[in-house]
Amino acid sequence: MKKKIVIALVGNPNSGKTSLFNELVGSNQKVGNWAGVTIEKYEGSLEYKGYTIKVVDLPGTYSLTTYTPEELIARNYITEANPDVVVDVIDGSNLERNLYLTLQLMELETNIIVALNMYDEIEKQNIQINIKQLQQILGSHVIPTSATKNKGLHSLLDHVIRVYEADIVIAKNKLYFREEIEESLQKIKEIILKQPNIEGCASWLAIKLLENDEMIYQKLNKLPVWLRIEPLLKATIQEIELKYQTDPEVAITEDRNAFIRGAMEETVKFNRVIKKSLTDRIDSILINRILGLPVFFIIMWLVFQFTFVMGKIPMHWIASSVTVFSTWIRALLPSEILKSIIVDGIIAGVGGVIIFLPNIVLLFIALSFLEGTGYMARAAFVVDKIMHKVGLHGKSFIPLITGFGCSIPAIMATRTLKNRGDRVVTMLIIPFMSCGAKLPVYILLIGAFFPPEMAGSILFGVYVFGVVLGLIMAKILKSVMFKNQSEPFVMELPPYRMPTLRYILLQAKAKAYMYLRKAGSIILIASLIIWVASNYPRDYKSENLINSEISKIHSSQTLTEEESEKIKWLENKVLAQRTKESFAGRLGSMIEPAIKPLGFDWRIGMSLIAGVAGKELVVSTLGTIFSLEEPKGKPFNLANLIKNDKGFNRAKALSLMVFVLLYIPCLAATAIFKKETSWKMTGFFAVYTVSTAWLASFIVYNIANLLFT
Ligand code: GDP
Ligand code: MG
Repeated sequence: MKKKIVIALVGNPNSGKTSLFNELVGSNQKVGNWAGVTIEKYEGSLEYKGYTIKVVDLPGTYSLTTYTPEELIARNYITEANPDVVVDVIDGSNLERNLYLTLQLMELETNIIVALNMYDEIEKQNIQINIKQLQQILGSHVIPTSATKNKGLHSLLDHVIRVYEADIVIAKNKLYFREEIEESLQKIKEIILKQPNIEGCASWLAIKLLENDEMIYQKLNKLPVWLRIEPLLKATIQEIELKYQTDPEVAITEDRNAFIRGAMEETVKFNRVIKKSLTDRIDSILINRILGLPVFFIIMWLVFQFTFVMGKIPMHWIASSVTVFSTWIRALLPSEILKSIIVDGIIAGVGGVIIFLPNIVLLFIALSFLEGTGYMARAAFVVDKIMHKVGLHGKSFIPLITGFGCSIPAIMATRTLKNRGDRVVTMLIIPFMSCGAKLPVYILLIGAFFPPEMAGSILFGVYVFGVVLGLIMAKILKSVMFKNQSEPFVMELPPYRMPTLRYILLQAKAKAYMYLRKAGSIILIASLIIWVASNYPRDYKSENLINSEISKIHSSQTLTEEESEKIKWLENKVLAQRTKESFAGRLGSMIEPAIKPLGFDWRIGMSLIAGVAGKELVVSTLGTIFSLEEPKGKPFNLANLIKNDKGFNRAKALSLMVFVLLYIPCLAATAIFKKETSWKMTGFFAVYTVSTAWLASFIVYNIANLLFT
């Protein structure tokens, strides 16, 4: 018995299907009609290397929707007759347009072979196509053919047999739609997979439902399971509408086109340049081989400049309101201890964090603006080559940039990386992409120790330092722990568009709200804990002794200069003794030897410990401790206190910024990391981030000491 293989030829009209069909089956063909329509149906067969191959020439189609009878026939044949191999005939001289159908075939998860037809035309026009790369991007074999010249047909048939026999397999690839769509697809797919009475490829059905496909809707909407699917669809439609002012159907089409644009950029070199659309023209600068990277750096630099300069004014308002408020409260409250709890504990801690709200909001506005315009995707494309050098792919760059906002969504965004090694390495370096919560620390320290005209650039420098170190780490990790190859991805290039103000403001509002809620909950509680920890236990006996000495001096009628000096000194002595003897003081002193080489004293040690719960806490802890040490009654301004403190200077400030940048991310992010990996990996994560931070701070501190003193 000869083995029988059924292949279907699909492709755009005029891609050469019929020519190919004729060359394959010769006169051994019959013509009929597709059921119910007047469209002709060509079938034929041939004998090849011991196989009987039946070939069906499907009507030409651009898409697999249901708008034309041709599309419907082609799609029903593939999904219902289940041919063994689908041969996608592509007009290679019109690759971009033809790939749109190929992508939809990929979504069906059937066996595809791409016949890159009109190859004679491609050669004549001197279009260079990197076939190997195209194969990996499409996840299927790509065979150059010239149907009218009878070229490449044997190779095509050989591959049909090999695919049929599962002899050589190219890893299937898939297009990842934008996050919202992808999440929704996943949920719908899971529901469909649990239904034994629904036939067909679940993920394809899910895509079609989001594309508002009439036929699939008819097929599913009578089933009980529809009650669970419908709300998901509605929610996605709303989400997409809010974020992109369009519906999922359009979004899906856009994502396919973005994928194709990226695939074209990566695999095709035209000798003849025909660029026309606005997107093409902007791209010719933004993803230009030479200009791309400098432009990227300039844009990022502007983002940080914007964050710093624009943030300064509202920050000033908030800072002075906090000062006024704390003076007012201090005067209002009756007892000393209550004053201290509220002013030194809560206001210094929470207020110290709220001051940075404008900066955080501005950073998020800038980042979501860049994302919304489509520039972020370009940035990933531009850095793709650099990422390859460290063993990662440009695709890892999106999670990394997300990390500038917050590590948690960034770690989750690595899910789009299929390769396990790539994924873990990306997650491991995400903490080095400085998150929004670290911003207050930098702004406080830069503001205190550097002139305003340098501020934006130093801030930018800190971020760049993190990125560079992250890339070096990736290279090391990749060559020591994860020696596997990365897989090809397409860098999607969506069309440029102006994001709506409404969307950007909504994003900013959400972020501001999140930040304030954090300030009102975790940071409030932590500030109280730190207040208690740095006030107790107390040595009441010795405090009382000193206090009575103070009142003795006070009792004399007029104070001499010398006497008031003495009072000040004694007051400071009480405060210094108190914080030093407290829990916080002891814990801080305990770790002091370990951090002394970095220029940190116990107060910084304390705030770094607190910072593990959330990086904003570094600032609020410093606020509480400094406020307690400060003799009572002065208005509170942390930047000034730090500036005039003997335990601080430029070198120490830089060292602290580097440490905060690199050491273990907050508990929440670490918990997510654990969820996505394992305990063992999380242990490694903690040890490696802290030791990197220590080493880097040590080096920076010593170099800065040489430079600044
Ligand atoms: P169909 O619509 O996909 O069935 O495409 P046809 O087979 O009818 O071909 C459309 C046109 O392209 C015809 O004029 C063919 O002669 C031409 N054609 C098909 N294959 C090739 C090829 O490999 N090279 C060149 N140069 N022309 C081709
Ligand atoms: Mg035809």
